[in-house]
Amino acid sequence: MAKRGLVWFKNDLRLHDNEVLLKAQKECSELVFCYCIEEKDYQQSVNGSRRADIIRFKFMQQSVINLRGNLQHLGGHLIIGEKSAMITIPQLVKEFEVTDIYAEQEYAPFELDLVSEIMDRLPEIEFHFLWGKTLYHKDDIPFEISKIPLTSKAYRIPVAKKSSPRETISTPTSLNSVKNIKNIEFPSCSAYGFSKSEYEQSHPFLVGGEDAALERLEYYTFKSELLTGYRWSRNKSDGLDYSSKFSPYLALGCISPRQIYSRVKEYEEKVRKNQSTWWLIFELVWRDYFTFKGMRIGPSIFSTQGFKNKKIVWENDPGKFERWCQGNTGIPFIDAHMLQLNQTGYMSNRGRVNCASYLVHDLKINWTWGAAYFESKLIDYDVSSNWMNWHMQAFEIWYTNPVHQSNKYKAQDFIRLWIPELSKLNNIEVLIPWEFETINYIKPIEVYPKWNRAINLIKKIPI
Ligand code: FAD
Repeated sequence: MAKRGLVWFKNDLRLHDNEVLLKAQKECSELVFCYCIEEKDYQQSVNGSRRADIIRFKFMQQSVINLRGNLQHLGGHLIIGEKSAMITIPQLVKEFEVTDIYAEQEYAPFELDLVSEIMDRLPEIEFHFLWGKTLYHKDDIPFEISKIPLTSKAYRIPVAKKSSPRETISTPTSLNSVKNIKNIEFPSCSAYGFSKSEYEQSHPFLVGGEDAALERLEYYTFKSELLTGYRWSRNKSDGLDYSSKFSPYLALGCISPRQIYSRVKEYEEKVRKNQSTWWLIFELVWRDYFTFKGMRIGPSIFSTQGFKNKKIVWENDPGKFERWCQGNTGIPFIDAHMLQLNQTGYMSNRGRVNCASYLVHDLKINWTWGAAYFESKLIDYDVSSNWMNWHMQAFEIWYTNPVHQSNKYKAQDFIRLWIPELSKLNNIEVLIPWEFETINYIKPIEVYPKWNRAINLIKKIPI
């Protein structure tokens, strides 16, 4: 019997290197394509917070619309479910007499639950889940998920020795699409409780979608050759060029890690192989590691006591938490990063490390509050990268002194950019305005004695 397949796009919003699409195209005589928005991700809780805020909504929308356009070019379409896959998938199965569903394999607890509920509702359908998230395929690494090492080194070395990333899969040139399915408009932001002005005022740091992702890859590698300096620039915070900015595209699958890997390998052959090219791949391996470690740990990645069940006494002052969220702590290095996050949905890795460490170790606020806040804002939100990095800041690594780091990473221009009221201050004042009576900036929540040495060093910066 001819198969009629449903390709269910989730966090694999691309045509290139997409095994789900390839398999469906090979096995089915006709295909229906869909993406489902999960309404509950955008619903406000009693305290007004959302799992995903407007900036994430907009980035997702741009990415889905771009995918729809690319599918249309090949004679396809994209049906967009407004409320939940739980509603849309069974409806489409019935309407189009679907026999098989193809989708990327999930790895995180909520998403796994959603998939398993849908499978329960559709016992007559054959499901095909394919692994696509990581650089190294889940089946190729020399560990079972239940035995993923708890330290990264113990993971990385055997993986590099015993396996390698698979080749990328070619992009289809046509699609066996069911004919005459009309594309509907992307649902309005108001259906998810966002106002028109909120929507118009939100400006994700990058434009979403596979086209922009592939353009970014070309720009960062062959066009600008910025990749050559990545090892030395990656700890900065200011602008687009100091790091790759692949993370938002990886999070929604607008680009595949194997696509990045294969271009970096070409770059090594044709342009330059150095510590930077090695380091970029190393970061993608970190991302893999957190994915697999998160799978091993399961739902306790979200638990306050962490997966090692460590008991920490938190102070959890809601006023201090609110000041942290709004970028109002009085510590310019922290505030500038939080303001950037709130306005663009992005923050550098240096910023994330410092803002997380400050929240957990200085303000003594439950790390899961910070992780949930990042979840709602980051356009590159990724379950394991976010929660595992927060976990590491809370339990596994040492304290990061934000005053010292603001000096070490020469954050003056970055602060002036994000906090205009400090734009006229000199290189010393802008890092430690509380030290000068004449400067009228927010009084810090607290200035800790452990910062004294860093403050004194800043006072010696030549102006
Ligand atoms: P680059 O420096 O150019 O790195 C290339 C790629 O490597 C990134 O795109 C990313 O996919 C991967 N990568 C780099 N650093 C890490 C890391 N520490 N952990 C996992 N992957 C990494 N990254 C996310 O993608 N999503 C998140 O939700 C997320 N939350 C974080 C929360 C905290 C508290 C911290 C400390 C880090 C978090 N990171 C997260 C990791 C890292 O900050 C971002 O991946 C990076 O800043 C993205 O910018 P880039 O693409 O320019 O990175």
